[in-house]
Amino acid sequence: MNKKDLLRRLPKIDEVMKQESLLLLADDTSSLLVTDAVRGVISDMRQRILGLADDEEARGFDIEQLEPANIAGLAAARFAENEQLNLYPLINATGTILHTNLGRAPLCQDALDNVVRVSQGYSTLEYNVAKGRRGSRHDLVGELIAELTGAEDAMVVNNNASATMIVLAALGRGKEIIVSRGELVEIGGAFRIPDIMRQSGAFLQEIGTSNKTKPSDYENAIITKEMLREMELRGREAALMDDPRGTRRFETGALMKVHRSKYDVVGFTEEATLEELVEIGHRHDLPVIFDMGNGLMVDMSEFGLNEPNVPASLATGIDVILFSGDKLLGGPQAGIICGKREYIEAMKKHPLARAFRVDKMTFAALEATLAKYRDRSLALRDIPVLSMIAASEDEMKARAERLAEEIYRAAGRDRISLEIVKVLDQIGGGSAPMVRLPGWAVAVSDSSRSADSIERRLRKADIPVIARIHEDRLLLCVRTIAENETETVASAFRGW
Ligand SMILES: *Cc1c(COP(=O)(O)O)cnc(C)c1O
Repeated sequence: MNKKDLLRRLPKIDEVMKQESLLLLADDTSSLLVTDAVRGVISDMRQRILGLADDEEARGFDIEQLEPANIAGLAAARFAENEQLNLYPLINATGTILHTNLGRAPLCQDALDNVVRVSQGYSTLEYNVAKGRRGSRHDLVGELIAELTGAEDAMVVNNNASATMIVLAALGRGKEIIVSRGELVEIGGAFRIPDIMRQSGAFLQEIGTSNKTKPSDYENAIITKEMLREMELRGREAALMDDPRGTRRFETGALMKVHRSKYDVVGFTEEATLEELVEIGHRHDLPVIFDMGNGLMVDMSEFGLNEPNVPASLATGIDVILFSGDKLLGGPQAGIICGKREYIEAMKKHPLARAFRVDKMTFAALEATLAKYRDRSLALRDIPVLSMIAASEDEMKARAERLAEEIYRAAGRDRISLEIVKVLDQIGGGSAPMVRLPGWAVAVSDSSRSADSIERRLRKADIPVIARIHEDRLLLCVRTIAENETETVASAFRGW
């Protein structure tokens, strides 16, 4: 059989579509998309035939491949592949709780249910039912956040990066914002505080050194209206003597503290506390802003997490605090700004508020998550990020043993070797970088495969399992594997 004969043998699209399996598939899904898949497979097959070097090669071509039943099978597979979305679930077996690449905080069940409840139809997003007129989305969670944190009011934007931007634009445009050099951090993805500052129209006034910033450094950097007027009266030359770099100075807009969430400065260090900043700020009638980052809402020190939390930070008297919704708060991606009403009002009225506003799905998930915090024990039990931090070692050890049993059952005891080991897990997501949480994992070894090769294989499972490799050993850390995911992890070992 030569190339021409092979081409002649290629079935027509209609002929393939008559196959029982495709008729059913087209009925259940989309006839158009199934036909597209068939067309694609036939076209690929034609290209393969045309690519055969000569009749000699053509004779070696397995003509069974051209049977309509075979083409139909390939088309069904291609259809399924086309249906696969790019965003889909996987299993985090790394033991890093807030894994930025893996979607940060998993949501609690009530948040998920509420997203479905609110988003499948219409909702009160901007409608005041009692009054029968337009409402504001800013009012949806403002009171709840106030109740939980002690703030006067709150506002929600897309993430903490937009929160930083709008706070600086609303309170610092054309003014100087005083920040310690030790806190001029890059948060990741080229998000650097000095760059945001520039974009917002505020001027950064850096003070102190990388390791030490004293309260007096803030005090000495403040430029009041009177000082500015005096400088202008004395003329430019005299003004330059006040600042040897010759940069123009502006009135101070605020004192700002940025929580160093991604690294720690240890050794010969000093930084001003929030209380000290509040004392200086309020004496000069200047707002004190705290970019807290992680959004921890409750005290978690009993689990080794000695981080500031939102209510305690606000209790120091600071004016504005901002933090993410999807870090230690354990909710959806969001930036939450709360504090004194006059400042929050200014941000709500700022044009960026419209650009940074969040969707009903975010509000639905956020409100349901926040509601858990009315009772700390509910939050610890139901919000996955917190329950993962609070997981007991005994319980994790038992889960690791169960997981190992299931993996043995799926892979066969002789093919793989498992060991239950102690590990140190992390919070991740740029939060509490020094904290290590003692946990348990299943260490997997296989005499015929390297750790890297096991890792690759698990990553390519139907539902990918992302493992940790530590000292050439593959670890499945149970802290971040949900109870109902154990079986899925084990099934990645089937037919090992
Ligand atoms: C994480 C973080 C941000 C950025 O928050 P996103 O919600 O990721 O935009 C800003 N500031 C601090 C201190 C952070 O830790």
